[in-house]
Amino acid sequence: MPESNKTETDFMRFTRLASEWDIREEKYRASYYEGDFQPGAILRIDGESPLILTAPHSLNHYRFNKAKPADRWTGSGCELLGARLNAAVLTCVGPIGTLQSWEARTDPFKCSLDDLVKPGSLVIDVHGMSDTHGIDVCIGTGTNPSKSASHAADWLIAELRNYSVSINEPFSASPDYTVVSYVQRSLGSDALQIEIAASLRNPLDHQLKAGKFAADLLSALHLLAGGLAGSHSTEIRPEDGIGINIERGEYFSREKSSPDS
Ligand SMILES: [Zn+2]
Repeated sequence: MPESNKTETDFMRFTRLASEWDIREEKYRASYYEGDFQPGAILRIDGESPLILTAPHSLNHYRFNKAKPADRWTGSGCELLGARLNAAVLTCVGPIGTLQSWEARTDPFKCSLDDLVKPGSLVIDVHGMSDTHGIDVCIGTGTNPSKSASHAADWLIAELRNYSVSINEPFSASPDYTVVSYVQRSLGSDALQIEIAASLRNPLDHQLKAGKFAADLLSALHLLAGGLAGSHSTEIRPEDGIGINIERGEYFSREKSSPDS
Protein backbone atom coordinates (compact mmCIF):
# COMPACT_ATOMS: atom_id res chain seq x y z
CA MET A 1 0.00 0.00 0.00
CA PRO A 2 1.46 3.42 -0.89
CA GLU A 3 2.64 5.42 2.09
CA SER A 4 0.06 8.13 1.47
CA ASN A 5 -2.81 5.63 1.71
CA LYS A 6 -1.41 4.10 4.84
CA THR A 7 -1.09 7.51 6.43
CA GLU A 8 -4.64 8.26 5.57
CA THR A 9 -5.80 4.97 7.02
CA ASP A 10 -4.03 5.66 10.29
CA PHE A 11 -5.44 9.17 10.32
CA MET A 12 -8.96 7.85 9.85
CA ARG A 13 -8.49 5.16 12.45
CA PHE A 14 -7.13 7.56 15.07
CA THR A 15 -9.91 10.03 14.33
CA ARG A 16 -12.55 7.33 14.65
CA LEU A 17 -11.17 6.12 17.97
CA ALA A 18 -10.98 9.68 19.29
CA SER A 19 -14.50 10.51 18.26
CA GLU A 20 -15.94 7.37 19.83
CA TRP A 21 -13.92 8.06 22.97
CA ASP A 22 -15.43 11.53 23.17
CA ILE A 23 -18.98 10.25 22.67
CA ARG A 24 -18.51 7.68 25.43
CA GLU A 25 -17.30 10.42 27.79
CA GLU A 26 -20.63 12.21 27.58
CA LYS A 27 -22.23 10.19 30.38
CA TYR A 28 -19.45 11.21 32.77
CA ARG A 29 -19.28 14.91 31.94
CA ALA A 30 -23.07 15.26 31.71
CA SER A 31 -23.19 16.08 35.40
CA TYR A 32 -19.93 18.03 35.45
CA TYR A 33 -18.37 14.79 36.63
CA GLU A 34 -20.54 14.52 39.75
CA GLY A 35 -22.38 11.41 38.51
CA ASP A 36 -25.62 11.43 36.58
CA PHE A 37 -27.03 8.20 38.02
CA GLN A 38 -27.96 7.05 41.53
CA PRO A 39 -25.22 7.20 44.18
CA GLY A 40 -22.72 4.41 43.82
CA ALA A 41 -23.97 3.40 40.37
CA ILE A 42 -21.43 1.70 38.16
CA LEU A 43 -21.06 0.79 34.54
CA ARG A 44 -20.13 -2.88 34.39
CA ILE A 45 -19.49 -4.86 31.25
CA ASP A 46 -18.41 -8.46 31.53
CA GLY A 47 -15.86 -9.87 29.12
CA GLU A 48 -14.05 -13.02 28.11
CA SER A 49 -10.54 -11.60 28.24
CA PRO A 50 -8.34 -12.14 31.29
CA LEU A 51 -8.04 -8.35 31.39
CA ILE A 52 -10.37 -6.32 33.61
CA LEU A 53 -10.29 -2.56 32.98
CA THR A 54 -11.26 -0.35 35.90
CA ALA A 55 -11.70 3.42 36.18
CA PRO A 56 -12.52 4.17 39.83
CA HIS A 57 -11.93 7.90 39.31
CA SER A 58 -14.10 8.37 36.24
CA LEU A 59 -15.99 10.99 38.32
CA ASN A 60 -15.12 13.49 41.02
CA HIS A 61 -14.39 11.70 44.27
CA TYR A 62 -13.03 12.11 47.77
CA ARG A 63 -9.91 10.84 49.40
CA PHE A 64 -9.58 11.30 53.14
CA ASN A 65 -12.47 13.81 52.89
CA LYS A 66 -10.57 15.88 50.36
CA ALA A 67 -12.36 16.51 47.07
CA LYS A 68 -10.45 15.19 44.05
CA PRO A 69 -11.41 16.00 40.48
CA ALA A 70 -12.30 13.19 38.07
CA ASP A 71 -9.61 11.51 36.01
CA ARG A 72 -11.33 12.65 32.86
CA TRP A 73 -11.59 10.32 29.88
CA THR A 74 -10.61 7.26 31.93
CA GLY A 75 -14.11 5.79 32.24
CA SER A 76 -14.77 6.27 28.54
CA GLY A 77 -11.22 5.11 27.74
CA CYS A 78 -11.83 1.81 29.53
CA GLU A 79 -15.08 1.41 27.61
CA LEU A 80 -13.35 2.11 24.31
CA LEU A 81 -10.60 -0.42 24.95
CA GLY A 82 -12.83 -3.00 26.62
CA ALA A 83 -15.21 -3.13 23.68
CA ARG A 84 -12.33 -4.06 21.37
CA LEU A 85 -10.53 -6.41 23.74
CA ASN A 86 -13.66 -8.21 24.93
CA ALA A 87 -12.45 -7.28 28.39
CA ALA A 88 -14.55 -6.58 31.46
CA VAL A 89 -15.03 -2.91 32.25
CA LEU A 90 -15.89 -1.29 35.57
CA THR A 91 -16.39 2.47 35.92
CA CYS A 92 -18.30 4.82 38.21
CA VAL A 93 -21.34 6.63 36.78
CA GLY A 94 -23.18 7.60 39.98
CA PRO A 95 -21.86 9.93 42.72
CA ILE A 96 -18.96 8.34 44.56
CA GLY A 97 -19.52 8.72 48.28
CA THR A 98 -16.84 8.82 50.93
CA LEU A 99 -15.20 5.46 50.68
CA GLN A 100 -14.22 3.28 53.61
CA SER A 101 -11.41 0.79 53.53
CA TRP A 102 -11.81 -1.74 50.74
CA GLU A 103 -12.49 -4.55 53.16
CA ALA A 104 -15.39 -2.61 54.75
CA ARG A 105 -16.95 -1.54 51.47
CA THR A 106 -20.21 -3.02 50.17
CA ASP A 107 -20.80 -0.69 47.22
CA PRO A 108 -21.44 -1.98 43.68
CA PHE A 109 -17.95 -1.12 42.43
CA LYS A 110 -16.25 -3.17 45.14
CA CYS A 111 -18.73 -6.07 44.88
CA SER A 112 -18.37 -6.18 41.09
CA LEU A 113 -14.61 -6.14 41.32
CA ASP A 114 -14.76 -9.09 43.74
CA ASP A 115 -17.06 -10.87 41.35
CA LEU A 116 -15.10 -10.19 38.15
CA VAL A 117 -11.64 -11.15 39.38
CA LYS A 118 -10.95 -14.83 38.69
CA PRO A 119 -7.78 -16.91 38.78
CA GLY A 120 -5.63 -15.70 35.91
CA SER A 121 -7.23 -12.24 35.76
CA LEU A 122 -5.11 -9.14 35.32
CA VAL A 123 -6.79 -5.96 36.48
CA ILE A 124 -5.65 -2.85 34.62
CA ASP A 125 -6.61 0.10 36.79
CA VAL A 126 -6.68 3.22 34.64
CA HIS A 127 -6.04 6.71 36.02
CA GLY A 128 -5.17 10.17 34.81
CA MET A 129 -2.20 12.23 35.89
CA SER A 130 -1.31 15.78 34.90
CA ASP A 131 1.20 16.64 32.18
CA THR A 132 3.49 18.22 34.76
CA HIS A 133 5.26 14.96 35.61
CA GLY A 134 7.12 15.03 32.32
CA ILE A 135 6.16 11.48 31.37
CA ASP A 136 3.42 10.05 29.21
CA VAL A 137 2.54 6.98 31.23
CA CYS A 138 3.37 5.65 34.68
CA ILE A 139 2.83 1.98 35.41
CA GLY A 140 2.38 1.15 39.09
CA THR A 141 2.91 -2.41 40.24
CA GLY A 142 1.86 -2.01 43.89
CA THR A 143 3.88 -3.38 46.77
CA ASN A 144 3.52 -7.04 46.05
CA PRO A 145 3.46 -7.79 42.31
CA SER A 146 3.69 -11.42 41.28
CA LYS A 147 6.33 -12.40 38.79
CA SER A 148 3.70 -12.48 36.05
CA ALA A 149 2.47 -8.99 36.91
CA SER A 150 6.03 -7.68 36.79
CA HIS A 151 6.52 -9.30 33.40
CA ALA A 152 3.25 -7.79 32.21
CA ALA A 153 4.52 -4.36 33.29
CA ASP A 154 7.78 -4.93 31.41
CA TRP A 155 5.79 -6.01 28.42
CA LEU A 156 3.69 -2.85 28.41
CA ILE A 157 6.79 -0.68 28.75
CA ALA A 158 8.33 -2.43 25.75
CA GLU A 159 5.18 -2.14 23.68
CA LEU A 160 4.80 1.54 24.52
CA ARG A 161 8.40 2.29 23.64
CA ASN A 162 7.41 5.31 21.56
CA TYR A 163 6.21 6.98 24.74
CA SER A 164 8.04 7.99 27.87
CA VAL A 165 6.91 5.39 30.39
CA SER A 166 8.05 5.14 33.99
CA ILE A 167 7.51 2.36 36.46
CA ASN A 168 6.39 3.10 40.03
CA GLU A 169 7.63 6.68 39.83
CA PRO A 170 5.87 8.87 40.81
CA PHE A 171 2.84 6.56 41.21
CA SER A 172 3.53 3.10 42.57
CA ALA A 173 -0.07 2.10 43.42
CA SER A 174 1.23 0.98 46.81
CA PRO A 175 -1.19 2.81 49.15
CA ASP A 176 -3.87 0.60 50.70
CA TYR A 177 -6.66 2.53 48.98
CA THR A 178 -5.64 1.63 45.42
CA VAL A 179 -7.39 -1.01 43.36
CA VAL A 180 -4.02 -2.65 42.74
CA SER A 181 -3.28 -2.93 46.43
CA TYR A 182 -6.71 -4.36 47.20
CA VAL A 183 -6.60 -6.92 44.38
CA GLN A 184 -3.14 -8.07 45.45
CA ARG A 185 -3.79 -8.37 49.16
CA SER A 186 -7.42 -9.48 49.33
CA LEU A 187 -8.28 -11.11 46.01
CA GLY A 188 -4.92 -12.80 45.50
CA SER A 189 -4.80 -11.78 41.88
CA ASP A 190 -2.71 -9.58 39.60
CA ALA A 191 -3.24 -5.90 38.94
CA LEU A 192 -1.35 -2.99 37.42
CA GLN A 193 -2.12 0.71 37.60
CA ILE A 194 -1.72 2.85 34.51
CA GLU A 195 -1.56 6.61 34.95
CA ILE A 196 -1.97 8.45 31.66
CA ALA A 197 -0.88 12.05 31.12
CA ALA A 198 -3.63 14.56 30.42
CA SER A 199 -2.70 15.46 26.85
CA LEU A 200 -2.71 11.81 25.76
CA ARG A 201 -6.26 11.24 26.98
CA ASN A 202 -8.06 14.26 25.64
CA PRO A 203 -9.63 13.25 22.33
CA LEU A 204 -11.50 16.54 22.17
CA ASP A 205 -8.55 18.95 22.19
CA HIS A 206 -5.85 16.54 20.99
CA GLN A 207 -7.79 14.31 18.66
CA LEU A 208 -4.97 12.70 16.70
CA LYS A 209 -2.60 12.39 19.62
CA ALA A 210 -5.25 10.78 21.82
CA GLY A 211 -6.53 8.59 19.00
CA LYS A 212 -3.04 7.33 18.23
CA PHE A 213 -2.35 6.66 21.89
CA ALA A 214 -5.63 4.73 22.19
CA ALA A 215 -4.61 2.64 19.17
CA ASP A 216 -1.14 1.97 20.61
CA LEU A 217 -2.44 1.07 24.06
CA LEU A 218 -5.08 -1.13 22.48
CA SER A 219 -2.44 -2.99 20.52
CA ALA A 220 -0.25 -3.47 23.60
CA LEU A 221 -3.15 -4.74 25.72
CA HIS A 222 -4.37 -6.98 22.91
CA LEU A 223 -1.02 -8.76 22.79
CA LEU A 224 -0.82 -8.91 26.57
CA ALA A 225 -4.30 -10.43 26.81
CA GLY A 226 -3.39 -13.00 24.18
CA GLY A 227 -0.35 -13.99 26.21
CA LEU A 228 -2.34 -14.32 29.40
CA ALA A 229 -5.12 -16.32 27.77
CA GLY A 230 -2.59 -18.65 26.20
CA SER A 231 -0.73 -19.43 29.42
CA HIS A 232 -1.53 -22.67 31.18
CA SER A 233 -0.96 -21.26 34.63
CA THR A 234 -1.36 -17.82 36.11
CA GLU A 235 2.39 -17.56 36.45
CA ILE A 236 4.00 -16.34 33.26
CA ARG A 237 7.56 -17.50 32.86
CA PRO A 238 10.08 -15.23 31.21
CA GLU A 239 11.15 -18.04 28.91
CA ASP A 240 7.62 -18.05 27.54
CA GLY A 241 8.35 -14.79 25.90
CA ILE A 242 6.58 -12.08 27.80
CA GLY A 243 9.82 -10.47 28.91
CA ILE A 244 11.08 -7.48 27.03
CA ASN A 245 14.13 -9.24 25.62
CA ILE A 246 12.37 -12.24 24.22
CA GLU A 247 10.82 -12.64 20.84
CA ARG A 248 7.15 -12.25 21.54
CA GLY A 249 5.89 -14.23 18.59
CA GLU A 250 6.61 -17.55 20.23
CA TYR A 251 4.59 -16.83 23.28
CA PHE A 252 1.65 -14.90 21.96
CA SER A 253 0.17 -17.78 20.12
CA ARG A 254 -3.21 -16.19 19.59
CA GLU A 255 -3.92 -14.50 16.28
CA LYS A 256 -1.64 -11.55 15.99
CA SER A 257 -3.89 -9.56 13.73
CA SER A 258 -4.55 -6.01 14.80
CA PRO A 259 -7.45 -5.72 17.20
CA ASP A 260 -10.57 -4.60 15.47
CA SER A 261 -11.12 -0.92 15.75
ZN1 LIG B 1 -6.99 8.44 39.81
